[in-house]
Amino acid sequence: MTPIEANKVGVNAISPASADQSAHQSATIAIIGDVHDQWSRADAQALEALAVDLALFVGDFGNEAIDIVRQVAAVSVPKAVILGNHDAWYTASKQNRKKCPYDHTQEDRVQQQLEALGSCHVGFDKLEVPQCNLTVIGARPFSWGGANLRHKRFYRERYDVSSFEDSTAKICTSIDTAEHNTLIFLGHNGPAGLGDQIHHICGRDWKRSGGDYGDPDFAAAIAHAQQSNRHVSLVTFGHMHHELRHDKTRLRERLVVDNYGTVYINGAQVPRVIETNSGWHRSFTLVTLHQGLVQTVRLVWVNSTDTIVSAEYLYGSTPKTNTPLDVVMNLG
Ligand SMILES: [Zn+2]
Repeated sequence: MTPIEANKVGVNAISPASADQSAHQSATIAIIGDVHDQWSRADAQALEALAVDLALFVGDFGNEAIDIVRQVAAVSVPKAVILGNHDAWYTASKQNRKKCPYDHTQEDRVQQQLEALGSCHVGFDKLEVPQCNLTVIGARPFSWGGANLRHKRFYRERYDVSSFEDSTAKICTSIDTAEHNTLIFLGHNGPAGLGDQIHHICGRDWKRSGGDYGDPDFAAAIAHAQQSNRHVSLVTFGHMHHELRHDKTRLRERLVVDNYGTVYINGAQVPRVIETNSGWHRSFTLVTLHQGLVQTVRLVWVNSTDTIVSAEYLYGSTPKTNTPLDVVMNLG
């Protein structure tokens, strides 16, 4: 039974299993963009005040910032996390290993982060979220992005992955064993195929020629899910920051929708914490889901009293004006 069929069932004459599903048809999800050392108790409090059903962290907490990862692991709201390239900064990259501030023979900080996060780290794994009637599928963790698989030794030693094909197969195993039909994908870098211009959602902005910097293995896994009649509600990631290096006249595209109706969100608002005249403001991307479908997406800023002081609608209508979709690109 697809979620749409399930939701046609009347509330008054349903089995206990269906009743459980209809009790959780709506959910609010927070996406936390690349942290880059900006995390404190105030962020955890804001997440609690926003009363989100699920928090999705797209990684890059710092350069193997174990203390921040431990704080995130202690966040009380249900959460799924994927670690980014900066979270293996001194381990995966041969060049960066030479600058490592600690002794690799004594410590494995990548492993320490994974152990701190436990089952909420979904890289090459998944998290069942029965209270939202969905499964979070994790893409390849620690992604640097691009058309060639970087740091093969790191992936081979830790995950027995030597190619994009190996990686896709691993992600597809999570898809095929997911308990829920509605899936949310969480990656550090986004999937390939969403455009090659500098300002595109995964466009390379540090070369004036642009180029698609999405992950091919991630794209192949999403296609597998869509073609297996899974309902891919949302795909979210970070890594490619909203501000563009070579074009200061515009920001990166942050949301696109494909022909399956899957919503792709780049949550990399960096910096995600800023100081204003009225104090510190923290950013979160809030997604509302109803019956497994994305209803609204807002980039919100929250002040120190956990009040939303601004909200930019990236998708869906504002409650006041009920205007049509603000920013939606339908990819051909
Ligand atoms: Zn990154």
